[in-house]
Amino acid sequence: MKIVVLKFGGTSVGTIDRIKKVANIITSYVKKRFKVIVVSSAMSGTTNDLIKKSKHISNNFNSSEYDVLVSVGEQISCSLIAGRLNHMGYKARSWMSWQIPILTEGKHTSSRISKINKKKILDYLKNGGIPVITGFQGINNLSRITTLGRGGSDASAIMCAKFFNAKKCVIFTDVEGVYTTDPNNFKNAKKIKVISYEEMLEMASLGAKVMQPHSIQDARLSRIEIDVKSSFVNRKGTLITKKKNVFRNRTITGLTSTKNDAKLTLVGVKDKPGVAASVFKPLYQSYINVDMVVQTSSSKNRETDITFTIKADDLLKTTKLIKKNKKIKYRDLIVNKNVSKVSIIGVGMVTTPGVTYRMFKALANKGINILVISTSEIKISVLINKKNIKKALSVLHKEFRLNS
Ligand code: ASP
Ligand code: MG
Repeated sequence: MKIVVLKFGGTSVGTIDRIKKVANIITSYVKKRFKVIVVSSAMSGTTNDLIKKSKHISNNFNSSEYDVLVSVGEQISCSLIAGRLNHMGYKARSWMSWQIPILTEGKHTSSRISKINKKKILDYLKNGGIPVITGFQGINNLSRITTLGRGGSDASAIMCAKFFNAKKCVIFTDVEGVYTTDPNNFKNAKKIKVISYEEMLEMASLGAKVMQPHSIQDARLSRIEIDVKSSFVNRKGTLITKKKNVFRNRTITGLTSTKNDAKLTLVGVKDKPGVAASVFKPLYQSYINVDMVVQTSSSKNRETDITFTIKADDLLKTTKLIKKNKKIKYRDLIVNKNVSKVSIIGVGMVTTPGVTYRMFKALANKGINILVISTSEIKISVLINKKNIKKALSVLHKEFRLNS
């Protein structure tokens, strides 16, 4: 069987007209003799509304009931898609995750798919049906409904592709693919034709909101190739490939930037074992995500400065935790909430020397000051003043020849 998984995101099924369009896309694959498995997200806005309702009921809403509640958006969109396919004369039906079932592990609100029972869906496909499967949800070993975290229908699609051994997994969304940088921020951004899992994972984790980062990791582990494309216009999208050596005449594949970061510096902390751990332990216990961390080497008095960044939303909570932390002593706490992180990403930098230099030089030429630097094998990130973001994206886009 030539199986293809087609996943539709919230905006792609956001209105009745769009759902009709989606049904046409689905049947175009049926006409090409594919056995189509559809996975859909909820109509855009629906999940947010449901979450709001839970918050109005209680600010400590039970997490298993939360999953029951927020997963219903997918039930609506899937029945509408199946209904439209029926209307067009096709055999189709909706499948809730528990009807298949799609089994999950882990805690409520952020479960992971562990197994999909294939039999019913395979029989249905063999009999010429088009299964329309709810994304985002599953059931656990207690037969309770679970969800996979925000944006989790991507993971549903990837896991369907894996368990049903699909030839292809197509993620339909509201953009035409993955761009060299956010096209809303920078109009010269270009569509990337092919990208590796590793690069895509970095791009998604750093804020390119095309796919849920988890799901890319799942795809990478199962070697599933993904086509990301628009459901609004029929154009070639971006292929997320399993090929190791994507041929490209570029060192850098993409740029990302964050919006609301904050930087904190603890000045003059004692340079001895355990101090850094004491700084970060309460933050971790309060689920505050620390991003970049630098510690300067100590000079006089065996003292050092520790600088780190967090989401600006967490700033108030973080400063409170630091001020009441009796385990640490410092001379001063400096806070800057007008910072953003700009990153360049590309597997090409592993083999090309001088990328770091080029990045720093390009920023310096525009008079942009670098506050903090961090690197991984295929990524270099710098923290800069928020007001310089557009300038930075533009100069880096040019420096690494992403404009052409
Ligand atoms: N409807 C869910 C959400 O809004 C899942 C998804 O969109 O993938 O997070
Ligand atoms: Mg979505």
